Amino acid sequence: MNAAFDPERFRREGRAVVDWLADYWATLADRPVSLPVEPGAVRRQLPAAAPETPEPLAAVLADLDRVILPALTHWQHPGFFAYFPASTAPPSILGELLAAGLGVQGMLWSTSPACTELETHVLDWLADLLGLPARLTSRGPGGGVILDSASSGVLVALLAARERATAGLTNGAGMAATPAPLTVYASADAHSCVEKALGIAGLGRETLRRIAVAADGGLDAAALSDALAADAAAGCRPCLVVATVGTTARGGIDPVSAIAAAAARHGAWVHVDAAWAGTAALCPEWRADLVAGTDAIDSWGTNPHKWLQVNFDCHCLWLADRAPVVRALSVKPEYLRNAATESGAVIDYSDWQVPLGRRFRALKLWLTLRLTGAEALRGRIRDHVRWAGWFAERVAADDRLVLLCPPSLALVCFAAAGGDAATANLLERINATGRVLMSQARVAGRTAIRLAVGSPTTRREHVEGAWDTVVAGLSRMPDGAPDRHG
Ligand SMILES: *Cc1c(COP(=O)(O)O)cnc(C)c1O
Repeated sequence: MNAAFDPERFRREGRAVVDWLADYWATLADRPVSLPVEPGAVRRQLPAAAPETPEPLAAVLADLDRVILPALTHWQHPGFFAYFPASTAPPSILGELLAAGLGVQGMLWSTSPACTELETHVLDWLADLLGLPARLTSRGPGGGVILDSASSGVLVALLAARERATAGLTNGAGMAATPAPLTVYASADAHSCVEKALGIAGLGRETLRRIAVAADGGLDAAALSDALAADAAAGCRPCLVVATVGTTARGGIDPVSAIAAAAARHGAWVHVDAAWAGTAALCPEWRADLVAGTDAIDSWGTNPHKWLQVNFDCHCLWLADRAPVVRALSVKPEYLRNAATESGAVIDYSDWQVPLGRRFRALKLWLTLRLTGAEALRGRIRDHVRWAGWFAERVAADDRLVLLCPPSLALVCFAAAGGDAATANLLERINATGRVLMSQARVAGRTAIRLAVGSPTTRREHVEGAWDTVVAGLSRMPDGAPDRHG
């Protein structure tokens, strides 16, 4: 008898874990968002070897309280405004639990038909809610898939783009067989995962053309046209353009329609990376900006694990045509052959991703949409954007601060009027309070403090509290004194 696989024990321990998490959330606001931790401090408190005999769950929960929680950054804390949110909520967590408990592998349709069909269906639901065109849903030759991350979405788009641009040569005989060097384009503010994907795919990071960003934070489409034409004239084969909708530093939005028109002249694939901002397309008032140009692109990806209260990992990637992806990634050895695949009537999602195995991620998206409802999800996003706008107005009205660009949805980028060192100093003071956590970036050539509203527990009063923390940090700054750091 497997003592660990005991449904009655699971009932008991499962309730205890749910209670522990509910207590954690109930007391989250009383904790510092994060505390300084010395490297090695966590491991010093852990035994050197794993136990030979079972320990009670209570001992593990006690260690979570004692060892683990003090060394965490609390991403669901109401004062968490750093990076982009990694939001979660009970509906998604229950979906995750169900996926873990069912423990199925959805690599092929035939290895668990419901795992594949629910995913295809829920991605059509979400595409419709976001206002994406039907050509990106399963009603056309493409459709949606859930991957682990936006970085994987970019890699899969690149592999498909390369397959299409070289008519399969790189997938067969390899890069050396291609008649022309492949080139890839993204704005100077595009996410680092584009460069990483080029390294992974073996194209080389130097094949990336970083295109200048216009004053509004979006890619300069004229500069892209010039770069594409210059490369084509020099004998290169433009393969992929990655457009960003909501850049990581400042939430800039690339002009997707103009990018798609420029790319079309060279047959290049257009992938839209809308990892964070894409979720806001749920709200019709922002949709036009966020999904503009999607009638002429090849793939579009967003992360419900950022702003849609679906726990990591959940990247949704939609393709206008699945064929190049499947050609690039499908390998069917004898042990995976089956009648459903041969019939051509089903999707085998392992052909749309790098790993073979895949878990039942659609459950957490399904539960989030069903137990929350689209209207409440829109309401949260609207609250976040409104509160960020309120915060930006306070910044703009304070002559000790500079609003570095207009707020982008729920993201505000600002700086101390005194310059970069003063800004870094202010950020240190803000975060040292433990009440809030903000992060930094370079925006328009300056050090910026970023406030991204998006934690599921944040309420308006917490954003007001964040403003109070900034004001307190300013009043404790060496007034007008030259910066210590020069
Ligand atoms: C967060 C982010 C990414 C990376 O997301 P992962 O899912 O962690 O890979 C990529 N692009 C943009 C624009 C992002 O904001």
